[in-house]
Amino acid sequence: VQAEVKTTPYSYLSHLQCSGCSASFDADVLHGLCACGSPLLARYDLDAVQTATSPTDIRARRPDLWRYHELLPVRKAESVVTFGESMTPLIPLARVGESVGLRNLSMKDESALPTATFKARGAATGVSRARELGVHKIAMPSNGNAGAAWAAYAARAGIASYVVMPSGAPRVAQRECVAAGAELHLVRGFINDAGTVVAGLAARDGWFDASTLKEPYRVEGKKTIALEIVEQLSWRVPDVILCPAGGGVAIIGIYKGLLELQALGWISRRLPRLVAVQAQGCAPIVRAFELGQHSAENWTGAATIAFGINVPWALGASLVLDAVYATSGCAVSVNDREILAHQALLARLEGCFVCLEGAAAIAALPQLTRSGWLGAADEVVVVNTGAGLTGDDLGSQNKRRRAPPGGDQPLDPVWGE
Ligand SMILES: [Zn+2]
Repeated sequence: VQAEVKTTPYSYLSHLQCSGCSASFDADVLHGLCACGSPLLARYDLDAVQTATSPTDIRARRPDLWRYHELLPVRKAESVVTFGESMTPLIPLARVGESVGLRNLSMKDESALPTATFKARGAATGVSRARELGVHKIAMPSNGNAGAAWAAYAARAGIASYVVMPSGAPRVAQRECVAAGAELHLVRGFINDAGTVVAGLAARDGWFDASTLKEPYRVEGKKTIALEIVEQLSWRVPDVILCPAGGGVAIIGIYKGLLELQALGWISRRLPRLVAVQAQGCAPIVRAFELGQHSAENWTGAATIAFGINVPWALGASLVLDAVYATSGCAVSVNDREILAHQALLARLEGCFVCLEGAAAIAALPQLTRSGWLGAADEVVVVNTGAGLTGDDLGSQNKRRRAPPGGDQPLDPVWGE
């Protein structure tokens, strides 16, 4: 008699659920948005996860993003497309903390990931799952970092990629896309204008539209930021997590990850207060928060040196606002001068050269301590989304980034000085 071999699933993905109308969808079929226009979110059989694994099991695994595979959407280990997405460090910032009046400040430093930004997390899960579901060509709009990451993961997966960026996007990201074999199309205007081009490519030529939240699996990679923070604090949550917000997927993912850990009973009921940080020149989510609204309007005349968060309208804005309201968090903005000053401060005091978007989150600290929203004893974690070297030509490009939207004519990629 042959013994029955019982294998445990790699993923406990159960179905997709609409974030708007709660409709359910088969997770093993490709989906875009729900018919109601809202993003779909991945759901897991958390009871089964609880039986299958535990924080103790996870501790013994390789220190990378895939250590949480039960809570990730890729069905088979052999489908994983990876460069080795190592856990990123939680770095104490004693001197910067002292300068802003916080005794317990640390930074989740995402610059150590492949392609040097947090976008690698979403690309790792998004590309792996897309390939597993039979996708051969991926198109996406990007302000730079996501395009660079997805182009690299697509190359590794052996599938084609097409990236559409505003012409003002950092040239280093443009070059990364081209180097990875992506087709790069530059548009005048904003990431939303790039998104329109991608929607056309998807409708006309069958490219899979991997725009932010139009596919459900990018956010699953981003949620591992929260899983790692919690694990690094010995399965405890900090008081506050600050994160820069453009499209908002990191905050949406962090909140989703925390809810799943809570449902598993791996953390207590208390959640950290989540703070979305935007630039004053492009702050649609902050404006909505200040008005107590649950959705955000388009921001006209968007302009900031922190190009990654120059997103005038985000499909996921209401999910970001939900996360902020549900955790008694807030949304705040900082100006470009403050962003540059805090990028310099962090490098000088701590030796960390962070990207401008990460610097924006650090720059939000002084106003929150001044107002008393943050207490000196609060345990605060700031997410730095990438390396300082991912943003080039700060001054010169900024002028061009102010160009108004004006069509989608392909421009030649710009190749450095
Ligand atoms: Zn729906």
